[in-house]
Amino acid sequence: MCVFCKIINNEIPSYKIYESEHALAFLDISQNTVGHTLVIPKKHVENIFELDSDTGKEIFDAVLKTTQILKEKLNIQNVNLLNNNGSLAGQVVGHYHIHIIPRYGNDECYFKECPHEPNFDELAKLHKRITE
Ligand code: AMP
Repeated sequence: MCVFCKIINNEIPSYKIYESEHALAFLDISQNTVGHTLVIPKKHVENIFELDSDTGKEIFDAVLKTTQILKEKLNIQNVNLLNNNGSLAGQVVGHYHIHIIPRYGNDECYFKECPHEPNFDELAKLHKRITE
């Protein structure tokens, strides 16, 4: 059983922030910033490619509620939502989860920026490939 299924089954402890019928939010054990929280489906789904629409809606509703709780209790005004799918995308735990990462000034939490100039030929080709 995966580590997040064990949290859902109360086999290992967690710091729960919000819970609904199908979703759970709890503090990430390794706080990127203060209040870093994970939202997961109670059903074991590995990643977004396996996620069904109803579960996705339930998770996003839990993300909204959890973000409001963090906003109220920690007085945060800025937040990143992060969701890694697959090992090349940085997914370590194979149970779908969305990171809620509150942002503060000078919190030394960096995401890679891609500073390329837009290439409109490439964008047009890509758009054709995806939409045709
Ligand atoms: P990811 O790289 O997107 O798969 O992120 C997995 C996250 O799960 C990491 O930020 C870990 O710190 C977090 N994590 C792993 N085990 C636990 C645990 N037992 N309780 C809370 N968070 C955990």
